[in-house]
Amino acid sequence: MPDNHSQTITIDGIELALVVERKSVKNINARLRDTTLSVSAPTNVSQRVLDSVIPVLARRLVRRARARQVNAEEDALALANKIAARFANPPQVASVQFVTTQQGRWGSYSTKTQTIRLHAALREMPRWVLEAVVAHELAHVEHPDHSPAFWSLLRQVCPKTDQAQAFLAGVSWLSHHWPTIPPVERTLLMGMDSSNDTQE
Ligand SMILES: [Zn+2]
Repeated sequence: MPDNHSQTITIDGIELALVVERKSVKNINARLRDTTLSVSAPTNVSQRVLDSVIPVLARRLVRRARARQVNAEEDALALANKIAARFANPPQVASVQFVTTQQGRWGSYSTKTQTIRLHAALREMPRWVLEAVVAHELAHVEHPDHSPAFWSLLRQVCPKTDQAQAFLAGVSWLSHHWPTIPPVERTLLMGMDSSNDTQE
């Protein structure tokens, strides 16, 4: 008995048309094209299981698509190389990737792959903040720790290090507290003058 139906689901704030097809397949498969999520599921999988699995698959696909999109737009590699050149021993940077996976940090750099990975939300922040994160990760090539020598090197190549630390601490604070901030204060915060956000 075919059980095809379509509906919409919202993933990361993006509305997707959902098309579920029951088939004689082994696993639940999902495919995202533009904003249509097509799911094929074995006939014997319960609706409850589907309801819990689909958002997980959808979120993974939405974030992967978003990462492809932002990385196609950005020329972050040129920026990273510009920052690398400020070091006495410039680290090699072969690629820069904005990531949409939950990595729990703003950036990382692998000396093995010469790849800088940056939290995708950094693209939305002032450029000097992004630059500071790149500089931070590259400074770890010389000092893997957060020792005074690390900070002194970092402040040399990136004079806005301390401002960027404070900026990112504020962003982290707000993202953690946002759900518990009462609606009135939340609305007041959204009305804050953000002209300082873009200061160079
Ligand atoms: Zn660090």
